Amino acid sequence: MYEVILYYKFNKIDDPETFCEEHKSFCKDLGVKGRIYISEEGINGTLGGTPEQVATYKEHLTSLPGFDNIDFKTDESDYIPFAKLICKTRDEIVALHKEDVDPARGGKYLEPHEWREVLESDEDYVLIDVRNDYESKIGHFEGAITPNVENFYEFPEWVDNLEIDKDKKVLMYCTGGIRCEKFSVLMKEKGWDDVNQLHGGILRYGKEEGGVHFKGKCFVFDDRLVVPVNEKDMEPIAECEITGKPADTYINCANMQCNKLFVCSEEGARKMEGCCSEECRQSEYKRPFDPENAFRPFRKWYNYFDEDFKERELEEKK
Ligand SMILES: [Zn+2]
Repeated sequence: MYEVILYYKFNKIDDPETFCEEHKSFCKDLGVKGRIYISEEGINGTLGGTPEQVATYKEHLTSLPGFDNIDFKTDESDYIPFAKLICKTRDEIVALHKEDVDPARGGKYLEPHEWREVLESDEDYVLIDVRNDYESKIGHFEGAITPNVENFYEFPEWVDNLEIDKDKKVLMYCTGGIRCEKFSVLMKEKGWDDVNQLHGGILRYGKEEGGVHFKGKCFVFDDRLVVPVNEKDMEPIAECEITGKPADTYINCANMQCNKLFVCSEEGARKMEGCCSEECRQSEYKRPFDPENAFRPFRKWYNYFDEDFKERELEEKK
């Protein structure tokens, strides 16, 4: 059994390059895999390893000045859902493409039990899913507004066209909480006053409240791609793009030049050999389809968010 953790910490890092180099070498020596972004704002990461490796990692990170008190979201997995370790500096640890967004000015935290209380109350509120469309498509809270955006940095434009009274109570959530840290600042700046964010995101809510009122599953940024939230309600809410039947599994199109991430059932994947369209199925850049491994687990499918992957694979093909 392995552990997969997700975490972030906003804490000023004066020299991100040096911090990153040291951090990367620590992680390499330890042998954990995953993806870690470091900027002047702080750190944002997700990684996997044995429980011992993960414990050592946590101990190391929280021993650094200003990095104590990190809310680690932990999950178990029977494999490490990352192919390698990526530890990089970025302008922002979560890219809103806006400067001076200080999470200290963000919305009020609602702990998972408080969140559930509001959802179950008669209070009047709007619920906003602060994730991308391909994430909310396969799972979201009942009644949530699910913005039609592909990237987090499209949210500022989205909010400019939002028609919600400024005195309305706003609830927002994302996977682990980091996107709400920034987006709630933005909504407050735009004039909404009663802005609340789910502390620890869907993942912590799933662990602490059993995911009640969450429909479908949660998209995660690792090779698992999708994890359960509400064990009592696992019905898929999306449809296979090939067969039209209920499904909540994602694959990347097997045509390396396309690589589109789409909802696809096993039946659909077999039918199209892992491709999103007939055109892609005919492509000379099609990966060989391996039905035995296509869906168990997802590690055979390549992470959509590993930006270098597509180029690397095309390079190898040449
Ligand atoms: Zn395709």
